[in-house]
Amino acid sequence: MWEDIFKAIDDQYDKMLETRRHLHQYPEVSFQEEQTAQFIVDTYERLGIPYERNVGGNGVLATLKGGKPGKTVALRADFDALPIQELNDVSYKSKNDGVMHACGHDGHTASLLGLAEALLPFQDQLPGTIVFLHQHAEEYSPGGAKPIMDSGKLDHVDAVFGTHIWVNAPTGVIQTSKGPFMAGADRFELTIQGKGGHGAIPHQTKDAIVIASQVVTQLQQVVSRRVDPLKTAVLSIGTFEAGHAFNIISDSARLTGTVRTFDPEVQELIIEEMEKIIKGTCVANGADYDLNYERGYPPVVNHSKEASLVLDRSHEADASLTTEEVEPSMAGEDFAYYMQKKPGAFYFTGGQIPDHYYPHHHPKFDFDEKALNHAAKTLIQAFRSYQES
Ligand code: MN
Repeated sequence: MWEDIFKAIDDQYDKMLETRRHLHQYPEVSFQEEQTAQFIVDTYERLGIPYERNVGGNGVLATLKGGKPGKTVALRADFDALPIQELNDVSYKSKNDGVMHACGHDGHTASLLGLAEALLPFQDQLPGTIVFLHQHAEEYSPGGAKPIMDSGKLDHVDAVFGTHIWVNAPTGVIQTSKGPFMAGADRFELTIQGKGGHGAIPHQTKDAIVIASQVVTQLQQVVSRRVDPLKTAVLSIGTFEAGHAFNIISDSARLTGTVRTFDPEVQELIIEEMEKIIKGTCVANGADYDLNYERGYPPVVNHSKEASLVLDRSHEADASLTTEEVEPSMAGEDFAYYMQKKPGAFYFTGGQIPDHYYPHHHPKFDFDEKALNHAAKTLIQAFRSYQES
């Protein structure tokens, strides 16, 4: 049966291509993807596959219950676009001004819809249940994955797999890792409020520049002295703004920065240690502070067993595919929220166009459409491998 399914996916290719190019022309930004959600719903209506819409926002869950017993696995595709003006000169160029599918989510959606259509004739023979998880709003925190998880509509799901078409990898290459796979990326903004005054009369002031400088120096010790040396973290100050004139002691200083982690415990430790240092330094100097720490998406931490299934068995879906275990990417993804609660894995499906390489989120981003096929095949292969594991 599985060989027939992979063949059926090949037969769906032209349709997937058409879907991808249609979606590419009508992109919608995060949380405003009503037309795209409607397109997805219309497809499941046409196929006669039961679905639920407005899950956690614009999310759509469709369910194909196989005729044989087995586990329930969600396969995820996100469908939002970005506020970018497309600069590609292609027949399927975005028709929505200032909005572009510049990350490949049009491809993810086309793959998953094509997969659903290809699988339909095999429903009675399939083990377990497939949940086609169409997620809105991946690009903009707080994202769509969290409200979908919080809705409880995935409580019955045993595992979640998802893929990202990835132009940093050649077509035909599947990449993942067995643990941390994509970074947690946070941002913070710190204002230190001292007391300004004359540059010649420092004892009557609380010099915000001196205090903030101490904070910057001390923060360097968080990663070097508080975080386990075998774990990874970055804490960088990106901006430091203070002062107006050479002979005036500044009353305030404003710092911004970013924290990158792969381990949620390290992330929490860093936040705690930062607050201690900032508070301690300000108390010692009689200054006040305001720390606005925004947690971005948590890191995507794959489950080892499920990631191994992707690495070891993806080639069974298509002999042309190879797999690579890779170092984590510093990019973020809200697939992280599924991995916090469910076993599963996220992986990259290579889709680089050799003579047209522009990174994700670039106005000339585009991917090799052969990846549509590879994404669909490897997702159902992951489902199969999980059933047999
Ligand atoms: Mn993306």
